[in-house]
Amino acid sequence: MTEIPLQQHIAPSGEQMTVRDLASCPPPESWHDWVEYDARAWPRKVEKRYEIIPTICFNCEAACGLLAYVDKETGRVKKFEGNPYHPGSRGRNCAKGPATINQVNDPERILYPLKRAGKRGEGKWERTTWDEVLETFASKIRAAIVENRRDEVMYHVGRPGHDGYMERVLGAWGVDGHNSHTNVCSSSARFGYHIWCGADRPSPDHANARFILLISSHLETGHYFNPQAQRIIEGKMKGAKLAVMDPRLSNTASMADYWLPTWPGSEAAVLLAMARIILVEKLYNHEYMRRWVNWQSYLAAEHPNEPQTFERFIELLIDLYAEYTSAFAAQESGLPEETIVDIARQIGHAGTAFAAHTWRAASAGNLGGWQVSRALWFLSVLTGSIGTPGGTAPNSWNKFVPAPFLKPGPSEVWNELLFPPEYPLANYEMSILLPYFLRERRGKLSAYFTRVYNPVWTNPDGTSWIEMLTNEQQVELHAALTPVWSETAWYADYVLPMGVGSERHDLMSQETHAARWIGFRQPVLRVYQERQGQAVQYTYQANPGEVWEEDEFWIELSWRIDPDGSLGIRKYFESPYRPGEKLTIEEYYRWIFEHSVPGLLEAAAGENLSPLEYMQKYGAFEIPQEKAPIFMLNERELKPAELAGTRIDEQSGKIMRNGTTVGVMVDGKAHEGFPTPSRKLEFYSATLKDWGWPEYTTPGYIPSHVHRSTIDPERGEYLLIPTFRLPTLIHTRSGNAKWLYEISNANPVWVHPIDAERIGVETGDLLRVTTEIGYYVNRAWVTDGIRPGVVACSHHLGRWRLDTSQGTDRWASALVELGRQSDGVWRMRHLEGIHPFESDDPDSARIFWREGGVHQNLTFPVHPDPISGMHCWHQKVTVEVAHPEDRYSDVYVDTRKAYEVYQRWLAMTRPQTHRPDSLRRPLWMIRPYRPSPSLNAFHS
Ligand code: SF4
Repeated sequence: MTEIPLQQHIAPSGEQMTVRDLASCPPPESWHDWVEYDARAWPRKVEKRYEIIPTICFNCEAACGLLAYVDKETGRVKKFEGNPYHPGSRGRNCAKGPATINQVNDPERILYPLKRAGKRGEGKWERTTWDEVLETFASKIRAAIVENRRDEVMYHVGRPGHDGYMERVLGAWGVDGHNSHTNVCSSSARFGYHIWCGADRPSPDHANARFILLISSHLETGHYFNPQAQRIIEGKMKGAKLAVMDPRLSNTASMADYWLPTWPGSEAAVLLAMARIILVEKLYNHEYMRRWVNWQSYLAAEHPNEPQTFERFIELLIDLYAEYTSAFAAQESGLPEETIVDIARQIGHAGTAFAAHTWRAASAGNLGGWQVSRALWFLSVLTGSIGTPGGTAPNSWNKFVPAPFLKPGPSEVWNELLFPPEYPLANYEMSILLPYFLRERRGKLSAYFTRVYNPVWTNPDGTSWIEMLTNEQQVELHAALTPVWSETAWYADYVLPMGVGSERHDLMSQETHAARWIGFRQPVLRVYQERQGQAVQYTYQANPGEVWEEDEFWIELSWRIDPDGSLGIRKYFESPYRPGEKLTIEEYYRWIFEHSVPGLLEAAAGENLSPLEYMQKYGAFEIPQEKAPIFMLNERELKPAELAGTRIDEQSGKIMRNGTTVGVMVDGKAHEGFPTPSRKLEFYSATLKDWGWPEYTTPGYIPSHVHRSTIDPERGEYLLIPTFRLPTLIHTRSGNAKWLYEISNANPVWVHPIDAERIGVETGDLLRVTTEIGYYVNRAWVTDGIRPGVVACSHHLGRWRLDTSQGTDRWASALVELGRQSDGVWRMRHLEGIHPFESDDPDSARIFWREGGVHQNLTFPVHPDPISGMHCWHQKVTVEVAHPEDRYSDVYVDTRKAYEVYQRWLAMTRPQTHRPDSLRRPLWMIRPYRPSPSLNAFHS
């Protein structure tokens, strides 16, 4: 094999990879005709020739690079390996990347568009055509638009594959219909970050950190798993210390210098105690705090009679957090007091090289979980490590979303199914409440798309989703766009097969490290056929069967909704190169690469390529820092041209233009600052006060709904953590990857030995876990890797299907009986576990795993946090030995009780329907798709 010269490995960000990293990777010059021996022919030396085509993994949000090896003899993909030219993943992947080949070759996959032939959920399907699908949806959506029912069209996304594409489509249609999975995922952590700095995610520079604090398991299953894991290890190899706050001994915690098994929900108390130590011991970054924290606003609002000085602010800050002693934090969390003190000091000494990250974990589990990310960011602020080398940046400083041509304006409709008046501060859609809102007749759906989204399985209270999806008054037409069968697709009118990572176009950028990059996902067989001189009009012509891609689907659908352009939609789908003609997918990306990616034009010209050809060749591009800087962007001084027409508010230093803040004066100079109302880091949030939550204006600690005081193991009560991920599976869309199921095929309940003895179970025994609305039956796994009083059960597993030969893949699912017994009471029981089956893949006859795990989310009611709107996943449960009638994986649930719990949590909100300014929501807060500002007011 040829080695790539070292200089090619130096990324613009300065990150270096060694020759050893890439020793076995073919150099790009040979990607058109790469020769290697056929491993199956060994010991004979049989040459195989490949075309190597880069694409992007679709198996988690990290968007790592893959190289698809297309066999020139068969024209099929042989395998996937890492793409060393991808700045985030640098040639490395986790198990899920190469397992893409399982998904391509899955004998269970859906190859053609399907239409239901019986009642919804009855399981009768017939093959249909893309033409029929497009006509059906185009006429339904057109009618909704023409009749001004623009809140009846909804696109509900589970795994977004690209940045901005769908927002453009929905904007062109003029509907407020973007719904997401985010409030079962990350909206709480996002809120905590957003309220501080206006960006809603962290981007740590782990590789250059001196101290790393993770709340959850980022080496193995966390956000941006593989790219961040690489940098955490690099940081450790350079001497950084790693602390992991997680009640469960994850693989990450086992690699850490400190495992901090906090009582779930107590994390903010620990972080605030650390903040207090940093303040009291003067380890904070005085100048950074003085310049960039909105301490003036805090003093003016909360202490108007005190001296308005930074020194007095610090004194008042220490007073404010007086109760957060290390002793208090130890009592709340169960951690040793001296460990809390030790870590606080190490964070203080790490200074600007303190990297920290939280995403789902504690923020997603607990009432008030957003205070966990807010308290964690507080530590970054105190140390002045925001956007520094070795620190943690707002994600928007590292993520790059290039603009497309002709972007539609905001829509003229506000959809209260997405942003209802009860949750004015929710920064993502109130997705989990859709079944209750439709039941309460707050609206209906005329056309509903679920896109790589499986709410029946994934969301809490999935049986309420079944009740919604089978009600044709509530949901008139439903298409499941999905690369794989899912429990939700079963209840669709149309099941539309969409491509896996090597069968579609997308443009990806993620905040994986201190750099900005874009990655280009490509349908590799289409690219291969085009390189062989074959014309391909639509991607489904090159993919297996008639598997399509969303990008082309939406162009075709939009064209049919507005064929003559009279609705003003068609113009967004006309070619920027051939006026009046239909846009091709190649032209869409070609325009972006030619116009919107700094430095790409020059890099491509350096190789005598067009920007599109460059992206097709390498599959990724890192934007040079001189074109788009990444560190300390708040410090950027505004240029004279940017200050034209502005005025300075003398009191606050804000630089205003036409009522909008565009910068801030700091020490007499005009700076860009942060995208917050004050343009500073908002330790003090006037937004929370103005919107009805004055007790939370500063970072604080909200006792969780599963606080220690509420749980008594002696009465059989435990705290259930149901959120942890397995490193080898990805939610519900890896059921089509046989290698991954071979590795992970059970999700027993983790129980500490002390609790196991009290309950009277050993590893392998059946347990009944009872929630507020039902129960499930699973096996116990007795382990010291969980703190006493807490039990844990991973998600991903416990897939089901309702028919012997169709539905969720047989690699992953058990055949079950699922039915409503009396009004609202549902039971699920395994009829048959996983077992070998005959197919074109001989491995299907070799399946050795039998049970496939237990489903648990059906038994959880919704717990929407009254501020962030996030579902608070942790559950107070009772755990006991299974009853005589119980069988492995039994599920019982009562949706009437689920509705009562929903109403209880809804009553915790403080609706802001009578605000003097009539706003529905703070204008400065971000949301994925933003209607016109004029719609942000209640007009009734
Ligand atoms: S970390 Fe995510 S994107 Fe990267 S290879 Fe694994 S599954 Fe794919």
